[in-house]
Amino acid sequence: MLDGDKFWESVQKRDNTFNGKFYYGVITTGIFCNPGCKTRLALRKNVRFFLTSQEAESAGFRACKKCNPKNSKLQIQDVIHELCRYIELNLAEVITLKEISKKSGYSAAHIQKAFITNIGVSPKAYQDGLRQKNFKNQLKTQTNVSKAIYQSGYSSTSRVYEKLGKNIGMTPNQYRKGGEEVLIFYGCATTSLGPTLIGATDKGICFLQFGEDKDALLVELHREFPNAKIVSMPRTSRSEFDNWMLALNDYLENKKKLASLPLDIRGTAFQLLVWRYLQTIPAGDVRSYTQVAQAIGKPRAVRAVASACARNNVGLLIPCHRVIRGDGGLAGYRWGIDHKRNLLEIESRK
Ligand SMILES: [Zn+2]
Repeated sequence: MLDGDKFWESVQKRDNTFNGKFYYGVITTGIFCNPGCKTRLALRKNVRFFLTSQEAESAGFRACKKCNPKNSKLQIQDVIHELCRYIELNLAEVITLKEISKKSGYSAAHIQKAFITNIGVSPKAYQDGLRQKNFKNQLKTQTNVSKAIYQSGYSSTSRVYEKLGKNIGMTPNQYRKGGEEVLIFYGCATTSLGPTLIGATDKGICFLQFGEDKDALLVELHREFPNAKIVSMPRTSRSEFDNWMLALNDYLENKKKLASLPLDIRGTAFQLLVWRYLQTIPAGDVRSYTQVAQAIGKPRAVRAVASACARNNVGLLIPCHRVIRGDGGLAGYRWGIDHKRNLLEIESRK
C-alpha cells in the first residue's frame, strides 16, 4: 500500500494520464478506481493507493464499473478492438461517443482520435458502416424493407432513409432496384488531365474521371451506374459545376490545395472504409497498400484495399493516387500511371 501526496493530487485532478500507473481504493465503498475516474471525490482519509489492480483486489476492493480499472493496462489497440466488438454486438443501440469514452476510461477526444488512427473512421462512422452492410445484406434476402431495417439495427425508418440518403444516395427501395430511380447530372470540361467528366446527384459528386475523350467517359459513367437516369447538367446547376471545375484547375495548376467538394459516394462497407481513409491522407503524403490495410484494421486485406482503390469512381477527391507500393513503386492507377506520377509530383511541391 502506498501513501503519497502526488497520487492524491492526480486523483483530485482526475488525471487520466496516470490510469494504469496506480489505483486508489475507497474504504467506505470498497471500490477501487483509476486516478482519472469521474466518480465523486472521496475523503482523503478513506483513500488507499495501490500499484496494481491485483493488489487492490487482494486488499478486498472491487473494480469500479465506471472506470473499469482492471482494463486500464490494455493497449489502446486492444481497447479499440474491444469497442469494435461491443459496437458489433450492440448494433441495435445508438452508442454515443460519450458512452464509448466512459466504457474505455479514455476521454472522448482521445478515443475518437485513437479510433480514427486504428480503424480509419470515427466510432460513429464505424457503426453506420456496419449497419449499412448489415442492411444491404438484409435487403437482398428480405422482401419487406421495414423488416430489413429493424433486423439490421436501425431503430426507426426515418433514420435509415436519412442515413442511407447521406451515404449511398439511394433510398432502400431504389437500392433494391439497382439504383434505377437515381438521377445523375453530368458535365464535362477540359483540365490539364484532359477531358474531365463530373457526375453528381443532388447530394454531391459520385463520379469524377478523366481520359482521352468525353464520349468514352460518358460510356464509363453509364457502365458504373447502369440503372441510373443520366442527364446533362441543367443550366441551374451549371454555376456549381463551374466552381468545381475551377477548384480542380486551381489545384492542378498548383495554385491552391484541393478544396473539399461535396461527395455522394456509393460502395460496399469495405470500399467506403478504404475511401474514407484515403481522404484523410494529406496531400504530399503517400501510404502503401499494406499501411492502408493496417490503418483500417484489416491488416490482411491488402489485395482488397488495392482493388477498392482501383474501383474508385471519384478520382482526385478520393485520393487513391496517394497509395503506392511498399517498396516505393507507383503501382497502378485507374487513369494511367503517368497521371499518378504527375499528381504526386504536384502535391510534393506544396
Ligand atoms: Zn472508478
